[in-house]
Amino acid sequence: MTTCIRNANWVVEWSGGHQYRREIDVAFDGGHITHVGPDYVGDVDVEIDGKDRMVMPGLVNMHCHPSGEPLKKGFREEFGNPQLWWSPLFDRSFIYHAGVEGQLASAEYALCEMLLSGVTSVVDLSTPYDGWLDLLAASGIRAWATSMFGSAAWHTEDGHSVDYVWDEPAGLQALEDAIDLGQAADSHPSGRLSGMLSPVTVDLCTEELLVNSLEAARDHRWRVHIHASQSLPEFHEMTRRHGVTPVQWLDSIDVLGPDSILAHGMFIDAHSWTKWPTDLDRGLLTESGTGLAHCPVVFSRHGQGVEDIGAYIRRGVQVGIGTDSYPHNVLEEIRTAATLGWMATGNVHSVSTGELFTAATAGSSSILGRDDLGRIEVGAVADIVLVDLSHHSMSPVRDPLRSLIYTAADRAVRDVFVDGQHVVRNGEVTTLDLAGATQRLQAAGEQAERDTASRHFAGRTARQLSPLTFPEIG
Ligand SMILES: [Zn+2]
Repeated sequence: MTTCIRNANWVVEWSGGHQYRREIDVAFDGGHITHVGPDYVGDVDVEIDGKDRMVMPGLVNMHCHPSGEPLKKGFREEFGNPQLWWSPLFDRSFIYHAGVEGQLASAEYALCEMLLSGVTSVVDLSTPYDGWLDLLAASGIRAWATSMFGSAAWHTEDGHSVDYVWDEPAGLQALEDAIDLGQAADSHPSGRLSGMLSPVTVDLCTEELLVNSLEAARDHRWRVHIHASQSLPEFHEMTRRHGVTPVQWLDSIDVLGPDSILAHGMFIDAHSWTKWPTDLDRGLLTESGTGLAHCPVVFSRHGQGVEDIGAYIRRGVQVGIGTDSYPHNVLEEIRTAATLGWMATGNVHSVSTGELFTAATAGSSSILGRDDLGRIEVGAVADIVLVDLSHHSMSPVRDPLRSLIYTAADRAVRDVFVDGQHVVRNGEVTTLDLAGATQRLQAAGEQAERDTASRHFAGRTARQLSPLTFPEIG
């Protein structure tokens, strides 16, 4: 079946890089783009009027946890433990959950958020739950499904120091289970799922587990995806263990490389909080070809972040964009990546909208080994977003990507195609039940709120850990 978007007002076309073109046709046949240019003359089954439309490539969410993060909305802002350098990781963010029902509700809700904001590919790092792969497939999105595993767990008895509870055999067994899941993804009949391996964080994995994970990933032509340099306690733990930064240690055990993706890469040697005397980490990422998943929004809510993402890009690090948490809205991540970079450097030319949009499309795709995604060109996969230029939030349209990123965001996303399939039509998800997921997410959130104290080391309630904006009276 051939679909043609006729006379699209603006097109973000790829020709070695993104560029704008006006008043052209974009056609796709089955799952691939067959024409980008004036006057498509082939047979057309479905014609779309491109008069008030911008055609752009689908966005790639390089790093997120859709089955866990959505129900933390309202809990996870203005958040963090000041006794652990404002990181919430060790004593609070992981205790707010609601079992498998909560995971299913969260994931369905998050997948809707992604599709509605123009995300067509996602790297989903989750704790496995029944129905995971089938839900991803039913959504119509393109997904890398990867379960997180490690050799240890974090533990705190006092809220200001972190212990590591090691179980190395369990970590190696979890790697085997993760390989099974990756194979199930690769062979899923939808054809849109892929495997990946996620040794969870640099400080929770032994060298053996990391090296074995990378070898297994290479055997299956997958990537490994590791949280690293994401908190200051982690940075200090790794320098205490090894005398070098997390990135330098990963380099020393040969775990950096083009098959590796680091999530966050924030507390590196050059970050002002670490006061580390070298400036090697970004060069190691560049020389090794390691990909970086940059997720600025969630960390900004803890008062921290990558200080100069433009410097990573200028130094040649392959940067992709992820959401990590809610909202699963890559357009807002691009906006925040830009504004935080400008703020932190005091230099509005430190990073450009074009560099960040490229990171969120072709950049993420090439890190994932998929140079046929994230671009509008003949032969690329038909992952396509139509933006409504007549939406009030886009007006006046001088530079449509700037209108979209800095003002409109998901409000102006009208139609989304993945693999040529129409997964968002006139602003509605066609594949999932957003209203039902929203109801179930509310119930899951209320359960998480009730259960938090029983999981906290000192029995603190959710309201004590994260007070409401104003006191609730009565
Ligand atoms: Zn993460």
